[in-house]
Amino acid sequence: MRFEDIPGHSDIKEYLISAHRNNRIAHAQLFSGIPGSANFPLALAFATYILCKNKSDQDACGECENCKRINKLIHPDIHFFYPKPSAKPKDYDKAFSDSLKKWRELATQNYFPELSDWISINGFESKNLLISKEDSKQIIKTVSMKSFEGDFKILFIWYPEFMNPSSANAILKVLEEPPTNTIYFLVTYAYENLLTTITSRTQLISVPPFRDEEIESYLVDKKEVPQEKARKVAHLANGSMSKAFQELESIGEIAYQEFQEWMRCCFKRNYTELAKQSEGFGQRSRSDQRNQLEYGLALVRESLRSTSTDVTGGHNEEEMKFISNFGSANSLESMEQIHLLLSNAISNLERNANPRITFMNLSLSFCNLFRRR
Ligand SMILES: [Zn+2]
Repeated sequence: MRFEDIPGHSDIKEYLISAHRNNRIAHAQLFSGIPGSANFPLALAFATYILCKNKSDQDACGECENCKRINKLIHPDIHFFYPKPSAKPKDYDKAFSDSLKKWRELATQNYFPELSDWISINGFESKNLLISKEDSKQIIKTVSMKSFEGDFKILFIWYPEFMNPSSANAILKVLEEPPTNTIYFLVTYAYENLLTTITSRTQLISVPPFRDEEIESYLVDKKEVPQEKARKVAHLANGSMSKAFQELESIGEIAYQEFQEWMRCCFKRNYTELAKQSEGFGQRSRSDQRNQLEYGLALVRESLRSTSTDVTGGHNEEEMKFISNFGSANSLESMEQIHLLLSNAISNLERNANPRITFMNLSLSFCNLFRRR
């Protein structure tokens, strides 16, 4: 994880880098933010920066051995603690190493992990989760060991609000006075639920929610989401990147179902249903009309490409299936024709064509095209 991978938050990034440059890294830092914020990624990017062997003034290199190991969350001097069901002392070691595998799986796939993801990946739905007194013992043991590489040793405590008073009290001493070159990054999503014994011993780094335009550009640049859709999703996400991912999926599902239904009616030449769909289309807002056609255009474009290359572009499984079936059910020539018809319809709408008639004409052209197959 590099700072560059996280949109926005330049003030916090600069602050962290300058703390490192001036040799003034607080030994216990509390990254606080809402679920889906940059609190965890910022802490991880800072850990990467600290341990990177070839860093610049701005960021970690992303290429050196340490950067690579941190990306896989397997650097021996970075340790993670997180809520899990309590285990008997004799079962603790196994439970610890089992959960570590799951943790790596979660946090390498999702840069903005949150508790609900953690619960679902582990099937913890009916379990009582906590950072237990056994975890505190493990923290103390970890702190007392020498670092493997002789450099910094960094302990992450993810969701420290899951420590109860007895587990929190057990680590107060090592939290306050850790050995040299030992750093704690606590990542909280509910600052108000933290024990004051913890907050009073940590330096607070308050991570604000993402701004809409930061989410928008992240979706466009990293997830290849079309601009218009990214803007809509960013607006619904309330500053949370994980909420944005969820919205993306549900918007995608609705758009997909509509498009699939539309194409099905064209194949079957169900004119009654097509007339109804045209009415519905006519009643939508201009930007919704445009979105619906652009969504279709994107799927057709992907279907055209799917014959030659692997398609990504943030499609879910259903969409991928449709893309490949649609591609093989239609000749290249008719696919190009569909693409052209959709693009023309979009530009007609821009020139104020009647939306209901445009949609119906488009549907009739598709009916004819599919008939000729
Ligand atoms: Zn590096």
